[in-house]
Amino acid sequence: MDARPHIFDLDPDQLRQHIQAWGLPAYRADQVLQWLYQRHVVEPDLMANISKADRDLLAARLRFTDGHVTQHQVATDGVQKLLVRWGGSGEDRAAENTPPDIGPRSECVMIPSPVRVGAAHTGGETDRDSRSRKTACISSQVGCPVGCRFCASGLGGLEVNLTAGQIVEQVWQLTRLAGVDRITHVVFMGMGEPLANFENVIRAVHTLTAPWGFGISARRVTISTVGLPAQIRRLADVQLPVTLAISLHAPNDDIRRQLIPWAQHVSIDQLTDAGQYYFQRTGREVTFEYTLLRGVNDRPEHARQLATLANPLRANVNLIRYNEITGLPYHRPASDDVHQFQAVLRAAGVNTHIRASRGRDIAAACGQLRHEADHAAPAALNQARS
Ligand code: SF4
Repeated sequence: MDARPHIFDLDPDQLRQHIQAWGLPAYRADQVLQWLYQRHVVEPDLMANISKADRDLLAARLRFTDGHVTQHQVATDGVQKLLVRWGGSGEDRAAENTPPDIGPRSECVMIPSPVRVGAAHTGGETDRDSRSRKTACISSQVGCPVGCRFCASGLGGLEVNLTAGQIVEQVWQLTRLAGVDRITHVVFMGMGEPLANFENVIRAVHTLTAPWGFGISARRVTISTVGLPAQIRRLADVQLPVTLAISLHAPNDDIRRQLIPWAQHVSIDQLTDAGQYYFQRTGREVTFEYTLLRGVNDRPEHARQLATLANPLRANVNLIRYNEITGLPYHRPASDDVHQFQAVLRAAGVNTHIRASRGRDIAAACGQLRHEADHAAPAALNQARS
């Protein structure tokens, strides 16, 4: 077990304290943070404005990366997905004789926006922004305690919470991919329930948005929760202007309880009350995420019920076409049904979008890559950076 502090876990004050305790000048901390977050360099040997002796000491005392990329998929539409094993980089594992198959694994995805010249964009962004938009979809836990019946991530339950540093490092891992200069948006929609790992997620958001960190606008960070009303209120009180997405996935409690085990304990009314609190406290509109499952929750009457939930909250609704997962009994809805569902919502005055299906030729669904890696090695996988 590597006891060295993980650099992505440290804020400037903490790093300065370590560095001074090791006998180095405090300004070394600022230099290291600039290399890390501005230039995305984690190799001490490349930190050219730091003396060789100090670089060697930093390399010996700090863990610069904790993740080891074991699989890397590239889709034809530019989406890239990584399976990351935690507990030591490739070099550290080799030095310590740690086998590459030891340690929990989580997924993260880089989603580039398609070029949209002349198109209006949400959030007040310019067209230049939309052309260079690159979204990191990251995990907050390994596995998931919620166990939604249509999702691969929760199949084995929760394995472990990711640390704040491991959450931040995923953004760095994605930033280093070919064709990615910088990540512009972050969504906590990978593995795990972010609000069940509250402190680490909030610490990670601070690093992602800090001027000394990745400097991503908090308005471009989305935290998605399947529903912990008390934690939604707590998030509102933290007063970070992040977007809250409530993963509703059902228009009523009966269907929700069939799909989401935690819905036995939390009603939709409790969730929408917490969403209302979030909206009032932060002024940020709430989004409902709704995965359409053929024949389960995709009927026009379900859309009408959903509209009665969304309208009082002025919630936006993101419709997600289900990506099928081997071994699970749910199916992707027909395109006509998806568009009819959207039309019913729009007729009821709900702002709604169908999320584009990206990365369909790789294991696009949350938890799918880890699931497939556990059960078979698909021929299309690129073994990269392993
Ligand atoms: S859909 Fe989200 S909350 Fe549900 S099991 Fe999957 S990762 Fe967990």
